Amino acid sequence: MNVLYINLGNREVYQEERKDLFEKYIGGVGVGISLLMENCPKGVDPLSPENPIILSTGPLTGAFPTCTKAVALFKSPLTNELGESYAGGRLGAAMRFSGNMAIVIKGKSDRPVYLSIQNEKVYFKDARSIWGISSAYTVGKILRDVEPAPGRRSIIRIGPAGENLVRYANVNVDTYRHFGRLGLGAVFGSKNLKAIAISGSKDLPMEDKKGYLKAYKELYDVIVNTDSLNKYHDYGTAINVNPLNQIRGLPTRNLKSSTFEYAEYISGEHLAENYMAKHIACTACPVGCIHIATMQIPFARGFEFETKRIPYDYEPIFALGSLLGIPLAEQVLSLIESVDHLGLDAMSTGTTLSWATEAYENHLISKHDTLGIDLAFGNVEAYKKAVQYIVKMPNDFYKALAKGETAAAQKFGGEEYALSLGGLGMAGYHTGRANLIGHIAGPRHGHLDNAGYSLDQKLLKGKLRETEIVSNLLREDYWRCFANSLVICLFAREVYTPERIEKALNSLGIQKEVEEFLGIGKEIFKIKYKFKTREGFNLDAIRIPKRFFETESSQGKLNEIEIKNMLDTYKTEVIKLLE
Ligand code: SF4
Repeated sequence: MNVLYINLGNREVYQEERKDLFEKYIGGVGVGISLLMENCPKGVDPLSPENPIILSTGPLTGAFPTCTKAVALFKSPLTNELGESYAGGRLGAAMRFSGNMAIVIKGKSDRPVYLSIQNEKVYFKDARSIWGISSAYTVGKILRDVEPAPGRRSIIRIGPAGENLVRYANVNVDTYRHFGRLGLGAVFGSKNLKAIAISGSKDLPMEDKKGYLKAYKELYDVIVNTDSLNKYHDYGTAINVNPLNQIRGLPTRNLKSSTFEYAEYISGEHLAENYMAKHIACTACPVGCIHIATMQIPFARGFEFETKRIPYDYEPIFALGSLLGIPLAEQVLSLIESVDHLGLDAMSTGTTLSWATEAYENHLISKHDTLGIDLAFGNVEAYKKAVQYIVKMPNDFYKALAKGETAAAQKFGGEEYALSLGGLGMAGYHTGRANLIGHIAGPRHGHLDNAGYSLDQKLLKGKLRETEIVSNLLREDYWRCFANSLVICLFAREVYTPERIEKALNSLGIQKEVEEFLGIGKEIFKIKYKFKTREGFNLDAIRIPKRFFETESSQGKLNEIEIKNMLDTYKTEVIKLLE
């Protein structure tokens, strides 16, 4: 259970066995948040050399189906508190096979570098020739040619957005996956770190081979031979567009509406039938939910066509589709492609552009600010130009947009419709109370902290009191902290029952029992909240834009006082836990 420490400043590298952390917190987010606490000085500027990047994976990664993820922990330059982001692809497996369960990266290089990690060896490679390349995809193509171990390696890299410190720049993982949301790409950029290529040739520890095969088969059978994950394989997460639209939960035109009249044309079904080229999988996943569309783009009239491969999921479709009022699949795909190549987080780009569009409609910003671009819902060509400017930041307006909708609205106005909660743009759900509370109070303000959107949908068929909704959210928060210490893909969360997890862990020699799991999750949740409050997070200070209360949700219009009461209940529970 080794942790690899890398200092980009003085180029010091060492490996340390951290049994203490892995025995207590298993791996993934549990070990990662502990390492962040140890290595991140209080009050640090997120874009300074002292802000560490922690990458961490789990003991089941590479050994069990759908255990594919790695988690990144850092102080977020977008929210100025906890940054926590997950990615699949090959990274988790490559880390495991390199013998590094976690990696801590500190310092800043004096020139652009990329790291080549081969087992415990680390090479600092000159990245000046790939710094400034206009697409994160191209960087991957170049590194694939020069780095060893094809097929067993992972290549993660930033695009121009990360280099230029856009606060919601992402890190591209193996081309079609990302560390998205809270600005890890900008933290890479601030360290002059362009990319990491990692590969390994180590075996995984196996205590009980028979037990392992039995535990593996049980999980594999449920995943492959039941319909539990079929929808992800057939249509991917884009399957959520139509049902969310039907229940008035699909944020549209900066959440002026929760239904989109063109939803059908950007739905998972429509995309699968008309655009899908293939679906691919993270390493060690038999599901293959990653859907790749194909589009032919003419170079110029009379010339040949270029074939584009564009990954799509529900969240980018919502953020760069309905939220911006873009009606056609081809238009949405082309905007996803532009954003992806620049290395921007699709969701935050969408919430930032949708605020800018409404602010432009309301004359808070002018054509002078936008440099001649007519921002209007549905105007995809305008958005494609705007994202280039966000990355280049040619004036104060685009500098503000590069900091996200919250910062831009503070400068130009329109805070009542800047769709952020705790500094992070909303996810693609206007389903009701649980989603809103979960997003605000969950440790990383993510819809995946506690899946409030899912609880809201269950509540359309039944009722829970306010306090029961909060306790359900908290229980899910704790459980997901545990599941994320294993870094299980959360699409398979129902397959990974506590009993199956116990068998899987035991077969690898990790003696943990079902009864301990929720307690471990609670401990991890506590450390996350300690980090957040240490960095200034305060639930009472979160501003909820009026728009969330004005537009009908799946549960009708939300009541501000009710939401406030539920947040108070959540806060009381957290305080009790931290005592
Ligand atoms: S279900 Fe999808 S995201 Fe999850 S591990 Fe499989 S391919 Fe990756």
